[in-house]
Amino acid sequence: MRVKLTTAYSGPSLDLGLGVTISSGEELEAPDTTEVDNALAQGFLEEIEEEKKAKKGEITEGDEVWIFAEQRNGKIARVVFELLSKGRELADKLNVKLAAVLLCEKDCGSKELVAYGADKVYLVEDEKLKNYKTDFYTKIICDLIKNEKPQIVVYGATHIGRDLGPRIAQRIATGLTADCTGLDIDSDGLLLQTRPAFGGNIMAQIKCKTKPQMSTARPGVFKLASKDEKRKGEMIKANVVVDEKSSLTKVLDIIKAAKKKVNLEEAKIIVSGGRGLCDKENFRMIEELAKLLGAEVGASRAVVDAGWIPKDHQVGQTGKTVRPMLYLACGISGAIQHRAGMQNSEVIIAVNKDPNAMIFSIADYGIVADIKQFIPALISELKKQ
Ligand SMILES: Cc1cc2nc3c(=O)[nH]c(=O)nc-3n(C[C@H](O)[C@H](O)[C@H](O)COP(=O)(O)OP(=O)(O)OC[C@H]3O[C@@H](n4cnc5c(N)ncnc54)[C@H](O)[C@@H]3O)c2cc1C
Repeated sequence: MRVKLTTAYSGPSLDLGLGVTISSGEELEAPDTTEVDNALAQGFLEEIEEEKKAKKGEITEGDEVWIFAEQRNGKIARVVFELLSKGRELADKLNVKLAAVLLCEKDCGSKELVAYGADKVYLVEDEKLKNYKTDFYTKIICDLIKNEKPQIVVYGATHIGRDLGPRIAQRIATGLTADCTGLDIDSDGLLLQTRPAFGGNIMAQIKCKTKPQMSTARPGVFKLASKDEKRKGEMIKANVVVDEKSSLTKVLDIIKAAKKKVNLEEAKIIVSGGRGLCDKENFRMIEELAKLLGAEVGASRAVVDAGWIPKDHQVGQTGKTVRPMLYLACGISGAIQHRAGMQNSEVIIAVNKDPNAMIFSIADYGIVADIKQFIPALISELKKQ
């Protein structure tokens, strides 16, 4: 928040905490401190006009569609390219430019962002941006939004996007629809945001009254468009101040969890098991089959809840959304909440002993069989090759 002293304060300067002092006539970015809260409450400080406007959700003038280009260790997340594919459609419908916003230590992919559909890349390079920090990123992106006034901003519903999106929405007083599974433009040119609601029993369509209209969308939800290395785009070194004072946190070290990384969202083949496997021991067959196929292991919530496999393997509405080339569903009934996470797979093969199981309604190939006989037979055939 940018602030200035009011006439109610008679002193020459006021301490705002964290070593920041404001003098009469000066405007600056206030730190998040109790000193600032108290001064605002006492009427000694006031937000500058532009901030108040933003608070009322009046940032309405701009036209671009923005995608937040999340990167970790200088590698842009795959979801960003998926969002650019969808963003391209939205921008074309609105007849406006599509821009990616990349915060990083050194440019780690502006050309790739253009190749996947961006017309522009707002690039903020600074060694302080090597690792994600909520307050830092929030401040920089809020400043960019206030300067450039996009009409739509979309973030991946990753750990970072889910942390960052709501924080920005609060700062600039706009709405945010989380975990969208569909994005479109309505006849009034507004963003139509679709997401499951009421336990996945209905798909809600949400519109935002304030701008920018903001959403998060899960990895794997939107189809990746093909890359066009010949596309030309504009690279804009964004004019924002990367001020260490705007961050109250310091990343000392990043320690990766020792557990094996489950990368369902980027897997080409997923072998998924459900309650039809009957017990935890039988579930190990799924793991063996997945290993032979070079696949990742997925699971229904029923087996995650039963403790047969950790939650990071869960596919579905409250798990992960996947879009592999092949999804093999073994002993899974195909409840709506499970289907929500895998129905966009390119090819679905389902194995179930019940010929009326719901999973068959979306399967490309259905096999009516006892899973406890089918998987060992398949494993044995694969081992022969
Ligand atoms: C708010 C909410 C969120 C949810 N989120 C998720 C989610 O993210 N992901 C998810 O998966 N679920 C989710 N669920 C739960 C979901 O509704 C189902 O309960 C769950 O998906 C069922 O898992 P399942 O198919 O493994 O088990 P079941 O529904 O019990 O199905 C087992 C299937 O195995 C078949 N079978 C049994 N024995 C054999 C055999 N020997 N050989 C072959 N087939 C056999 C049966 O015919 C049956 O079709 C959610 C529910 C709610 C309310």
